[in-house]
Amino acid sequence: MDDFTKFRISNEIIDALTILGYDEPTRIQERVIPIALSGRDIVGKSQTGSGKTAAFAIPLCELARWEENAPEALVLEPTRELTVQVKQEIYHIGRKKRLKVPDVFGGFPIDKQIQTLKQKSHIVVGTPGRVMDHVRRESLDLSHIKTVVIDEADLMLDMGFIDEVREILSHIPEKRTLMLFSATIGKELEKLIQEYLHNPAFIEIEEMEEAKADIKQEVYETENEEKYGLFLKLLIRENPESCMIFCGTREMVNVLCRKLRKDGVKCGMIHGEIDQQDRIRTIEGFREGRFRYLIATDVVARGIDFDNLSHVFNYDFPTGKETYVHRIGRTGRNGNAGTAISLLTDEDKKMKQMIEEYVGYALPMEIFLEEQAGDAQQFWNRQKEKVVLKKRKGAGFHKTITRLSVGGGKKSKMRAVDIVGTICSIPDITAEDIGAIDVRDSLTYVEILNGKGKRVCEALQEKTIKGKLRKVRETRNNL
Ligand code: ADP
Ligand code: MG
Repeated sequence: MDDFTKFRISNEIIDALTILGYDEPTRIQERVIPIALSGRDIVGKSQTGSGKTAAFAIPLCELARWEENAPEALVLEPTRELTVQVKQEIYHIGRKKRLKVPDVFGGFPIDKQIQTLKQKSHIVVGTPGRVMDHVRRESLDLSHIKTVVIDEADLMLDMGFIDEVREILSHIPEKRTLMLFSATIGKELEKLIQEYLHNPAFIEIEEMEEAKADIKQEVYETENEEKYGLFLKLLIRENPESCMIFCGTREMVNVLCRKLRKDGVKCGMIHGEIDQQDRIRTIEGFREGRFRYLIATDVVARGIDFDNLSHVFNYDFPTGKETYVHRIGRTGRNGNAGTAISLLTDEDKKMKQMIEEYVGYALPMEIFLEEQAGDAQQFWNRQKEKVVLKKRKGAGFHKTITRLSVGGGKKSKMRAVDIVGTICSIPDITAEDIGAIDVRDSLTYVEILNGKGKRVCEALQEKTIKGKLRKVRETRNNL
């Protein structure tokens, strides 16, 4: 058996994985899941894109107990974007189990997060700064936490979150499982591991060789004044379906984006100075295929998952050897072929050498030949093509899950049990068919599972809830 059923995980989770299209575990999942289920500490190291999120999300969802009100698992992420992405993955995997997965990060109203945390929560995902903030305000109770995941640990340290991480760990009960995931493990991380993990299982998946096989790498020498011109020629020649373009600074991201747009190339950008809501919107837009080229700085781009990028461009050469591996790892995923093209100026030559020592092979130097320029018209035509929006991940859930809005909320003392009671009185509907219930001030949202939404919605038009006939409607799902 090569599918997920070989692990001891419940059908609700297997069903969710099927809807997500996860038919077989990836290599890191294969090894992490059984050990995580047994409660042993883990250090997991593997390339970006190898499925580390589900490797810890599946055991977290399996171990979660719905009856508990205080969170039993905490996942720390270095950036807000990753927090949102990882929350969604955990939420999808735990959806059939009706798990509540609040996310907390800065740049977002804390009051709303406090409201959400007051409700039942099973797995909290957040950035260290905001998590600590909630702990200090006593809006997040860590006293029941049994499992902590430190994801993208190397980046967490790079971003200077070490003190917050230590402080958070000091609030967690002694008896807990700690899992740490990283694409690279440096000295400082080793120290942290020694100090906080007890007899951890080291799980390492070497994929350097595979990376080399699947990703065509090219380096072009250029001078700063000619960089943009050469870049545009390469972009036109390659005419990528979609790609990421990395720059060294926020300023450069701005400049490049402006230039490309001026030249008629549709693109989006993310970096740390862009407003949080805009960043999330840009990432969603890129995922849906609203534009093909995303220009980014490293920090914001790290760990964010985009399927099927055909190309990665290093407009600015990376300034760290690991960074090179992370950046090019955005392409050539899941057995697809990819191309990574880097521009190199004089001051980058030393770094190129360091990267070559690190990866153990020479990066091929190429020269741009005008006769290989390709058909520019094709490129410009593609810029004008109407976009076909891609399906969002988790779209498969919508077929079987319907979200209903019910008139009446906290103000009229509506409680989840009132709704459950009425719904269960409908013939052929049981508590198993009811998903998450979210009681707001004057409105309550309830998810109906197993494709029974329509039937429940119709029945509720004529049934009273808490003694009154309520306005019940189907609403758009917001995930
Ligand atoms: P990492 O954290 O290692 O960088 P992610 O967890 O972000 O990687 O996963 C990379 C991509 O692989 C995501 O799009 C995810 O949905 C997909 N994925 C994860 N596990 C599986 C699986 N078992 N089968 C198919 N796709 C998977
Ligand atoms: Mg990850």
